Formats: sequence, C-alpha cells, structure tokens
Amino acid sequence: MTSPAERVRIEPRRSAATALSRIRTGLEDIRSNAADLDRRGAFPEADVLELARIGALQAFGADEATALELMEALRLVGRANLSLGRIFEGHVNGAGLVRWYGTSGQTAALADDLAAGALFGVWNTEPAPGVKIRRQGHGWVLQGSKSYATGAGYVQRALITAETSHGERQLVLVDGARPERADPSAWAVRGMRATCSGTYDLTDMPVEDGQLIGAPGDYLREPRFSAGAWRFTAVQLGGIEHILILLRDHLSIGELDPIRAARFGAVLAEVRSAYLWVREAAVQAEAENAGEDAVAMVLMARGVVERAGLAVMEAATRTVGTKAFFADHPLDQACRDLGLYLRQPVPDQALDRAARAFVARDAWRDDPLW
Ligand SMILES: Cc1cc2nc3c(=O)[nH]c(=O)nc-3n(C[C@H](O)[C@H](O)[C@H](O)COP(=O)(O)OP(=O)(O)OC[C@H]3O[C@@H](n4cnc5c(N)ncnc54)[C@H](O)[C@@H]3O)c2cc1C
Repeated sequence: MTSPAERVRIEPRRSAATALSRIRTGLEDIRSNAADLDRRGAFPEADVLELARIGALQAFGADEATALELMEALRLVGRANLSLGRIFEGHVNGAGLVRWYGTSGQTAALADDLAAGALFGVWNTEPAPGVKIRRQGHGWVLQGSKSYATGAGYVQRALITAETSHGERQLVLVDGARPERADPSAWAVRGMRATCSGTYDLTDMPVEDGQLIGAPGDYLREPRFSAGAWRFTAVQLGGIEHILILLRDHLSIGELDPIRAARFGAVLAEVRSAYLWVREAAVQAEAENAGEDAVAMVLMARGVVERAGLAVMEAATRTVGTKAFFADHPLDQACRDLGLYLRQPVPDQALDRAARAFVARDAWRDDPLW
C-alpha cells in the first residue's frame, strides 16, 4: 500500500476541533460505503484516506485533542461504520504508544508519519507460541505471527508486541502493510468484516534498534493499559447508538403502542447511561493524574456499555422482527458488527476488578460516585 500522502493531498495541520467538525460532515459518506465494504469484506481504504485528508489521523494521532473531542471522534466514526471506528481507534492507540514511550527521535518520526497520513495500529493478540524477538547480528529478528490484527496488510505502522528472551513484552514498530505477510482468510467472521483482522506473519522480519519503542513491559504499564480501554467503549457506543437510531426510525412510522414505547424508553435510558459512563471514563482516564480510580471507572464502563449493547440489539430485533435478520436490512449488519465488537478481552475479570476496587474505596471520600 502506498503512503496516503502519495495518493491524496493532506490538508494542512488541523486542530482536533476542526478535524472533528469535518468528521461530522463526512459521516453520511462513511455510512453509505459501509454495507458494500461489509459485503466484500474489504478494507475501507477510501474512508481511511479521507480521515487522513481531513486531518483526523493527524489531529487524533498527535496530542491535540481533549478527552471529549477524542470521545466524540471515536463515537461518531463508530456510529457511521463500526469497522472504521475500530481501525481509527487502533490508529489513535498506536500513535499514542509511540508518543508515550518513544524517544525524541521516534516522536519526531511519528510527527512526520502523521503529517504524511500514515495509518497506525496495535497488534498484541497472537496464536501460541506467540511472537518472539531475538538478537541477530547488530539488530534483532522476529518469529511468530499476530492474529485478530486489524488492518493486516494495510496498516503502515503496526505496533506489535514481542516476547524478549527474558519473557517480557517489547513494543516494536513494523511495516504492517506487506500483503504477502497478511492472511485475510483467517478473518472468516460474521461481523466487523471490513476491519480485515486476519493474521500477520512476522517470521524472519529483521528489526533495527530504532524500531524498539520504549522498554520491555511498557505496553502493559498501568494505568494506561487498562484505562485506555475507554477508547473502545466509545467506538462501541457509536455502534450502539446506530442501532438505537435504526430502532427510532422504525418506530417513527405509524402509531406507537405502549409496549413498544416502553421498550424503547427502557433501552434509551440504558444507551444514555452508557454514554454518561463513557464520558466520565474518558475524562478520568485522560486526566494528567489518572490512577487506579480511573482504571476502576473504565472497567465499570466496559460492563455498562456491553450490557447497553446487548439490550439495544435485543430491543431492536424484537421490535422489528424477522425483517431485522434479512441481509438487506440495516439492522442485520449493525447487529453482526456490534455483536462481535462487544467481545473484548476478559470481560468478566474487568467487572470483578472494578467491583473489588469500588468495595475497597473509602465511601466518605470526596468522590461524586458515592
Ligand atoms: C473486530 C476486532 C478487531 C480486533 N483487532 C485487534 C487488533 O488490532 N489487535 C489486537 O491485539 N487484538 C485485536 N482484537 C482482539 C481483541 O482485542 C480481544 O483480545 C479479543 O477479541 C478477545 O477475545 P476473546 O473474546 O476470546 O476474549 P478472552 O479474553 O480470551 O475471553 C474469552 C472468554 O473467556 C473468558 N475468560 C478469559 N480468561 C479467563 C480466565 N482466566 N478465567 C475465566 N474466564 C476467562 C472471558 O471472560 C470471556 O468470556 C480484535 C478483536 C475484534 C473483535
């Protein structure tokens, strides 16, 4: 894949607020492409190029956005196309990791990459025995592959994790856009098809010192690792709101009976509650002094958003009925995408950790939650 800068003219550096308003303007176009991309299981290259062109990859990849601006961007892109939202979230995370843990030279290179419209991603998930990094000559070499790797074969800057000979996780910045290393057939799924999250083979890929980002263990460093999960809840929320809007559209035709009105009211409250949790989680997680409290808030928000997602799918399909399961009905893709994207790591343990953290808290402390 050629660099977007070679194919589109990137408009001058934009603030996050400008990029956000341009995302809003482009939402209809993104939505209109979603069904076709899903049908073909095709990576949304044109949409990604558009995000680059309007400066969104740059503004949200750099440290230019407030927590609420970033939340809005993730939520709105996710609402327009959940697969594109996942890709965009991976980009924000990947660029963030370079910013947080990279050297000054690496952050300068990041700024150049972002200005050129490069797409970042983070690939941690892997099939056994995992990816290893070992010394080879003056540099390093990788062995193994990544799975569920969003944009495998398309992401120009992939932050991968690799196990060192001391058993620690090292971040490595690699070229993730080599089609011969990607296996899209490994992503034979019902939903989120346009993320093209197949496997990516890193075997025998040479690595130079300058590609190592941070120290071993940095990727899992808290509170960033767990608190950063708020970003995927914002994207999920977008997918949830999309279904709520489809349900609203359905109900707005004809008379509204009390049973369906009550069902809509109940799920509207759940979705709005999820929004408020995500907003609070975003603000706490992105605060300078974010700590264990922010992590607990994000872990709780994960469960709230998951339950709102399951509720809205149930309410929408129950209300619309059999038609909701036809391939040409918008609810079909919306529910397939959201159903899969709600599957994030260790959901039960997230609630368990959050509950323990809240039980352990001093209830008399100055904390708006109590
Ligand atoms: C669309 C999509 C794109 C993705 N893109 C990427 C990507 O770009 N990069 C990347 O790194 N990953 C990616 N992933 C992977 C994702 O981040 C999660 O790691 C993955 O979806 C979680 O898999 P899982 O549902 O099997 O969760 P798991 O955490 O494996 O859990 C599966 C089930 O087992 C339970 N469970 C797990 N461990 C235990 C335990 N110890 N005890 C009891 N129960 C347990 C959980 O509660 C859950 O119910 C992507 C996933 C999706 C769906």
